[in-house]
Amino acid sequence: MHTEDYIRLEDMYGTNTYHPIDVVIERGEGVWVWDVEGKRYLDCLSAYSALNQGHRHPRILQALYRQAERLTLTSRAFRNDQFPLLAKELCELTGYDMMLPMNSGAEAVEAAVKAARLWGYRVKGIPDGQAEIITCDSNFHGRTITVISFSTETLYRDGFGPFTPGFRSIPFGDTGALEAAITPNTAAFLVEPIQGEAGVNVPPDGYLRAVRDICSHNQVLLIADEIQTGLGRCGQLFASDWEGVTPDLVTIGKALSGGMMPVSATVGAAETLGLFQPGMHGSTFGGNPLASAVARAALNVIVEEELPRRSREQGAYFRKELRDLNSPLIAEVRGKGLLIGVEFTSDAGNARAYAEALKERGVLAKDTHGTVIRFAPPLVIEQDEIDFVVDQFAAALNSVQSRLEVANVLQPAD
Ligand SMILES: *Cc1c(COP(=O)(O)O)cnc(C)c1O
Repeated sequence: MHTEDYIRLEDMYGTNTYHPIDVVIERGEGVWVWDVEGKRYLDCLSAYSALNQGHRHPRILQALYRQAERLTLTSRAFRNDQFPLLAKELCELTGYDMMLPMNSGAEAVEAAVKAARLWGYRVKGIPDGQAEIITCDSNFHGRTITVISFSTETLYRDGFGPFTPGFRSIPFGDTGALEAAITPNTAAFLVEPIQGEAGVNVPPDGYLRAVRDICSHNQVLLIADEIQTGLGRCGQLFASDWEGVTPDLVTIGKALSGGMMPVSATVGAAETLGLFQPGMHGSTFGGNPLASAVARAALNVIVEEELPRRSREQGAYFRKELRDLNSPLIAEVRGKGLLIGVEFTSDAGNARAYAEALKERGVLAKDTHGTVIRFAPPLVIEQDEIDFVVDQFAAALNSVQSRLEVANVLQPAD
């Protein structure tokens, strides 16, 4: 079978919920993937930052094989010999008291929302059923009904109501709006330290520190969604670390398994997560021994290979090289670590054209909202590989630009 055959089958039988770049990948290793025609590409999306450790990291793969040969699932009706070690290691690494294991990122967010409401009623004394959670415009926290209930993107919401009440949205990066939105019934403020899906939106310096103070003064929990920004992606273990901020609850997912399987967690203090009692929350696969063994190895790789430092250094280099292109088509290069957004000018046309041109040149990256291209390669990327991406990007800019010029010549303004 060839590329077109796979595409035809997927489009015929798969629900049409994505608009993928038309490349059919069959193999991956480190920062590289190969398609079914044997062509090689540098992966600059890393499955939305789930592959921080690179494709098929040998140590994570070995943990997967070894554990698969022993035990994969017990459910938490019984205990297993891997989950306790993951729980201890994740808490020691992050400095939190406890963790709640889930599978997908959206489930970790749902668990954090439940924990915050529970704390609101049991500790803060909010009247039953009245808890409010403040969220940000243009957020992305996943796709469940409750999570899209606080999305501001009509595409994510239209046709899916009725929605879960109890959420209120404010502009991202605006501390005044947060202060104004807090009421005696506010349980928590949920925020991404950098909005990834919205186009790598970086808030003003000092934002998160000010948010931390406002939350503390008003007895409101700060929940950081670090599913995309965490685990080294932004040049620190967590993006919140840039401002020395300790949120009350942190959601973690994606790279928690190094891209091997869905594994997520919510970490927090005993004062919040300790409120859960048997029967109040659960998941058949949450904390399963296969996921736990894989996550232990994935965390170990982040620490041993100093991925946060690598991300910080390589990210600074990558952004500098992108800025040095001095392209008139680029309005801004922004981000932290290896979470990089390139915003195009209004004359540049749709960003999708650049993603397509990059694919032709052996680089996989994805546009967001038609105006931004995100570069988020595995954190194990080397400098010469960054040079390759930047060279291909420069060539893609030129080819799209000359096409735009030809179009202008053919249709002269009169
Ligand atoms: C990807 C993502 C999620 C959702 O994770 P899923 O595993 O797709 O459910 C939540 N929050 C952020 C910030 C994300 O980037």
